[in-house]
Amino acid sequence: MYDIIIVGGGTAGLSAAIYGVRAGRKVLILEAKSYGGQIVNSPEVENYPGIRKISGMEFAKGLYEQATGLGAEFRQGQVLRIEVRENHRSAVVSEADGSETEYKAKAVILATGARNRPLGVAREQELTGAGVSYCATCDGMFFRGKQVAVAGGGNTALEDAAFLSHYCERVYVIHRRDRFRGEERLVENLRQKENVEFVLDAVVEELMGKDILEGVRIRNVLSGEEMELSVSGLFVAIGQMPDNDGFAGIVSLDEKGYIQAAEDCRTEAPGIFVAGDCRTKEVRQLATAAADGAVAALAACEYIG
Ligand code: NAP
Repeated sequence: MYDIIIVGGGTAGLSAAIYGVRAGRKVLILEAKSYGGQIVNSPEVENYPGIRKISGMEFAKGLYEQATGLGAEFRQGQVLRIEVRENHRSAVVSEADGSETEYKAKAVILATGARNRPLGVAREQELTGAGVSYCATCDGMFFRGKQVAVAGGGNTALEDAAFLSHYCERVYVIHRRDRFRGEERLVENLRQKENVEFVLDAVVEELMGKDILEGVRIRNVLSGEEMELSVSGLFVAIGQMPDNDGFAGIVSLDEKGYIQAAEDCRTEAPGIFVAGDCRTKEVRQLATAAADGAVAALAACEYIG
């Protein structure tokens, strides 16, 4: 029996673990993949207070080592569902052989983050890994010296384009509007680069190439005009979406699928808390994920008593 089970080993989950173990609680983190969450895909983090510049991977490694070094247990496993019993909560994990393992705790913190949103264009899934990617840091090196495109206008797309511009011959940034959602400083940085070209008011209509991506057909949303870009890589960076359907029976989700809770990170289910990007909130940043982790862990400690 644990005091707190944390579902998700990203910034929010690991921060919650640090606060939980430092409050003297027995903490288990269950994570479907590897530790770190989305930040591991960020080449550079420059806006976490107190750290001038750090790679996302290095940041995540520091958090993981801090949490486990303080005594939090970390186990890889996909949580299928949470069950609320009279005296405890259970997290049911699916095992590789198809069996299920039940972990019990007095409180559960859901910190499942969010996953990449697909473009929704035909053959996107088929060509993922054959030119289509959702992670420039992971796959960018395969496109050294080649022409690539980044779809999106947020910080992720702008940072990805900057990262790719270091070794790709040309980087097109395809965005559906003429104003960027991401920071002006990042836009200005790209404007200075000769091998970066903005393709604005445009959306990807078609992925070209038989077995591997050879280009994209784009459409100008204002004029309707279409054109083809010859690229061997398309990096999709159009934001994230939550992955909370498995918890819909015990907590309320908003219309976009985020778990409903206020800044106190308490859900309406007793003993179930929520932290980070999977929660309804205005600002999804590293700093707010870490803050949620602290708030949720302390709320869970208070609940346990
Ligand atoms: P985001 O800020 O939500 O931006 C998503 C972008 O994709 C927007 O420009 C949006 O266009 C576009 N988009 C959405 N759906 C689309 C569709 N179906 N077709 C075409 N374009 C579409 O997502 P993000 O860039 O991944 O960032 C997520 C959060 O993480 C943000 O809060 C961001 O600030 C933060 N972040 C911070 C850093 C950093 O500070 N170092 C780095 C990365 C991310 P519209 O603008 O027209 O809606």
